[in-house]
Amino acid sequence: MAIESNKVVTLNFTLTDDTGNILDSTKDGGPFTYISGKGMVLPKLEEAVSIMMIGTKKQLKLEAVDGYGDYNEDAVQVVGKENFPGDFILEVGMEYMASNPDGVHMPFVITEVREEDVTIDFNHPLAGKTLNFDLELLDVRDATPEELAHGHVHGPNGHHH
Ligand code: ZN
Repeated sequence: MAIESNKVVTLNFTLTDDTGNILDSTKDGGPFTYISGKGMVLPKLEEAVSIMMIGTKKQLKLEAVDGYGDYNEDAVQVVGKENFPGDFILEVGMEYMASNPDGVHMPFVITEVREEDVTIDFNHPLAGKTLNFDLELLDVRDATPEELAHGHVHGPNGHHH
């Protein structure tokens, strides 16, 4: 039975890359929840989960194109240090948000620091990676009108107000 839209879906997952590195997992933070049919998760992931039975497990492999896209070399830029606000800590691994001329927020990570400038990368951290999901569907229930109005899940594994 396929999961319809506007359901709260609760699942456990472990996400690994092709070398077995764990990229993300619900083991530490508890189950993951989303509202179906809202584009809150990768479309291919939602499609795979939508035909699972509660209590079952499934393995899903998504190529980068069905995940977070190919790695884009053009999204890597070298920027002079003088262009950063004074309170930015210019260290490798620091993540910040830039705004493009349209006011769209674009996260980036600092990947290299030199004397005069730094290299920043706008690629999604999972861009270019094959995604291997170990999925376990725990629960499916109707979303409440309040959850649908807010656009997020409430409760123990969801949003707290
Ligand atoms: Zn809310």
